[in-house]
Amino acid sequence: MENMDLLKISYLLGSLSFIVGLKMLSSPDSARKGNLYAAVGMLIAILATIFFHEHTNAETGEVERIGNLGYIIGGIAIGTIVGYLAAMKVKMTAMPQMVSLFNGMGGACAALIGIVEMSTHHPEFWGERLIIFLGLMIGSVSFSGSMIAYGKLEGKIRDIGSKVQQVFNNTFVFAILALVIYASIQPDVLSGNAIWVIFGCSLLYGILFVMPIGGADMPVVISLLNSFTGVAAAFGGFLYDNQVMLTGGILVGSAGTILTILMCKAMNRSLWNVIIGAFSASGGPAKSTEGLSIREINVTDSAILCSYAQRVVIVPGYGLAVAQAQHVCHEFEKVLEDKGVEVEFAIHPVAGRMPGHMNVLLAEADVPYPKLKEMDDINPSLPNTDVVIVIGANDVVNPAAETDPSSPIYGMPIIKANTAKNIIVMKRSMAKGYAGIENELFYDDKTRMLFGDAKATLEKLIAEVKSV
Ligand code: NDP
Repeated sequence: MENMDLLKISYLLGSLSFIVGLKMLSSPDSARKGNLYAAVGMLIAILATIFFHEHTNAETGEVERIGNLGYIIGGIAIGTIVGYLAAMKVKMTAMPQMVSLFNGMGGACAALIGIVEMSTHHPEFWGERLIIFLGLMIGSVSFSGSMIAYGKLEGKIRDIGSKVQQVFNNTFVFAILALVIYASIQPDVLSGNAIWVIFGCSLLYGILFVMPIGGADMPVVISLLNSFTGVAAAFGGFLYDNQVMLTGGILVGSAGTILTILMCKAMNRSLWNVIIGAFSASGGPAKSTEGLSIREINVTDSAILCSYAQRVVIVPGYGLAVAQAQHVCHEFEKVLEDKGVEVEFAIHPVAGRMPGHMNVLLAEADVPYPKLKEMDDINPSLPNTDVVIVIGANDVVNPAAETDPSSPIYGMPIIKANTAKNIIVMKRSMAKGYAGIENELFYDDKTRMLFGDAKATLEKLIAEVKSV
């Protein structure tokens, strides 16, 4: 069999393993395996390209193999070591930041492909130039945007934006697109420097685009940046006529787009609305809670309340991940069930700091998947629920999203914890959540605050429930 036939078969195998891997990612039970399958597919694609790829040199007519093997293997080795160490060292709570960082690296790779191809091959056909410029533009936006998203998730970068900046942003992106089209049709424009102007402007746009988006809109932006990276990689695959790169790019791009649509639906917002940023920096001030008072509860009373309940619903949030309390939380669920209490988990689509964060966290602790109920499915049953325990969640149970039009999160669907018969909120202090706003739920007559680290408090609670 010819080398190029082997290459095509390997690419087919690689593409198939991406598709199967992606399908397996849709359930927590098979997700780890799915990840591994897709990684093996990538390995097949890389090795096949190194060993089987051939092209005919236009000048000499000779068949040539892939060159620069030293650089390629060196790059793979450095990338593997850095990736391995980062993945081993990262704390579960810093996972969203790492995902953003890695996503940005994908965008940077796509941008580099554009720069290298344009500078070394000087494509003759305008369509080819358009593909290179578009890949460069989208990859660069994804890179700089992901870096800003990383900074925001780390809490190092604040939301900065204004109405004027939004108008500027929208004009700027159309100007870059116009330049991309013009520079593709007229290659002599800017005397061959168009590539650097598009690169610089796209990097700047990525920063300006993500900078004002904040508060509850970040999940949408993160999935949008994911899809950008996929689309940029697909342009690379198209350019090189490389089927596995094209398939991989399209899969990431379309999965990211579907996730973006789902996140928008979950937030009850249109994508355009998120991009022009009405939620975040431009939102009005939230209602003050000055003069309202909270009521505390201790561990013993909480244990009694839960043990004698018929039905308890746990609402996990970012604080559960911070405390790494997923295993004790599952233990708590089991001791209540041993007492005959019906327990379920209410999962908000944007709880935590990355899409599916709570599902991943609770799956890690082996909480049975059917126990995790989506927001729309569980909300109607909350008025008949004796106790809702909010563990490290804040924004996703904030009634201001429904009652206060001046709130920056107004319109976001929430887990309606406030409709339950009793509410226990477990957190360390009265600190605000990611959106930085007060939560009236904490001052509700039916709410009791149980202060402390979620893990430590749950451990004490388990001991108390056992002794009731
Ligand atoms: P929030 O960020 O609203 O609140 C988390 C709460 O957890 C805090 O109020 C904090 O209070 C508490 N907490 C922190 N550490 C601990 C601990 N060790 N023990 C107990 N409690 C703790 O989280 P939610 O999950 O409710 O909401 C997610 C927010 O993040 C939304 O605004 C969402 O839009 C945003 N977001 C989501 C992303 C996603 O993809 N899911 C991505 C980016 C942003 P205290 O300090 O007092 O303990």
